[in-house]
Amino acid sequence: MTSLRIRLPHVLAAVALLAGCRAGGPSTAGEAGREPTDLPTRARSLAQRVLIADGHIDLPHRLLAEREALGAIRSWDFATGTSTVRDFDYERARAGGLNAPFMSIYVPSEHQKTPGKSKAVADELIDLVEEIVRGAPSRFAIARSPRDLAAHQADGKVSLPMGIENASAFEDNLALVAHFHARGVRYATLTHSKDNEICDSSYDETATWKGLSPFGREVIGAMNRVGMMIDVRPISRSSLPGTCSECGVRSRPSLPRTPRSEAQRPMPKMVARVALKRMPTE
Ligand SMILES: [Zn+2]
Repeated sequence: MTSLRIRLPHVLAAVALLAGCRAGGPSTAGEAGREPTDLPTRARSLAQRVLIADGHIDLPHRLLAEREALGAIRSWDFATGTSTVRDFDYERARAGGLNAPFMSIYVPSEHQKTPGKSKAVADELIDLVEEIVRGAPSRFAIARSPRDLAAHQADGKVSLPMGIENASAFEDNLALVAHFHARGVRYATLTHSKDNEICDSSYDETATWKGLSPFGREVIGAMNRVGMMIDVRPISRSSLPGTCSECGVRSRPSLPRTPRSEAQRPMPKMVARVALKRMPTE
């Protein structure tokens, strides 16, 4: 799980790769005849003209944790106005030009100890995203394709695409790739803080598979077939060659989240090249 705050590399990567979805709205600069001269105004103008995505916002996990701890979700004000208890809400997303915050379907690694639990938690988090949309259908919509993103932008809605943060949600069942794709998931982070059935984590010294597992190779093939992007962030360095070869990626990115000091070289463009190589078109 990571911060709710929008992280610039994710935004930039997503904007670059979603450029084909750029809205056809009027150009503020064109209407004015020239670009605004001060940088903040230019930035706000640009943010309203392009389609901006954030690859990862942990709202669903926080809602679920709150419901489990308090018996209910304190407030849905993020969906209906400007939230007083959350870092994300509809009004501020619109004001900042954020069109498509990917809802993170975060599955903690500890659930891997209990068969079926990871899948169940992922389904519960997706249920919550659907609940957000049901509660404010004029403001939010689940996006399953670039076409959806453009349509939602034109309608003044904030798109809520989804990504699974920890593919342990697939358990040891290849059919669950198609299950989660059918529910709207469009990327999956292969692992998180522990080795899982798919590959090794950069946070785990166990080196269970010494890279990608045989099941992991099948999972990547299934993700490619259904059109689900592959996020390589916390996988181990030894998992990367197998992942790249299964994805058909020639050049390998470094791994910005690996804890080993020699690998602390953030290269979001390269990660995005792997993560979004198989960007679904529909
Ligand atoms: Zn997260």
